[in-house]
Amino acid sequence: MTEESTIDVKINFNHLITEEKNKHTVYCTKCPSKILPSTMGKYLSIEFNLPHMSQKKNCEAVECELLTDYWMVPDMYMFDNIGFSKTVESGIKYLICADCEIGPIGWYDDNTKQSYVALSRVKHAEDS
Ligand SMILES: [Zn+2]
Repeated sequence: MTEESTIDVKINFNHLITEEKNKHTVYCTKCPSKILPSTMGKYLSIEFNLPHMSQKKNCEAVECELLTDYWMVPDMYMFDNIGFSKTVESGIKYLICADCEIGPIGWYDDNTKQSYVALSRVKHAEDS
C-alpha cells in the first residue's frame, strides 16, 4: 500500500519536473516572495517528517507530516529568498519564507549543506 501511494504522488508532481529539475519558479504560497529559480532544485524522493505549516510558536505538541517529494538544493546561495529556523536537532534547520516567515517549507542539513524544499509546501509558476 505504501508503494502505491508513493507512485500516486510522483504522478501528481510529474508536470512540475523536467529532467529531474524544477520546471517552474518556486514561490511562497502565502506571499509573492520568489524562493527558487527554475531548474535549481533536483527532484528527490526522500522521507522526512516535517511539522505542519504555521503552527503557533508556543504549541507544545508538534504534529508532523511525512512528506516524500522534495527539491534538493545543493547550495543555499542558489535560493532567491529563503529563511532558516533555529537549529532543531543535529544540524537540521527548517526552511521558512524569508518575507512572511511561513513554514516550514522544507529543511536544511548543516552537515551536507543541502536544502530540501517540499513540493507540496510551495507554489510553482512560470517565470514572470
Ligand atoms: Zn512568504
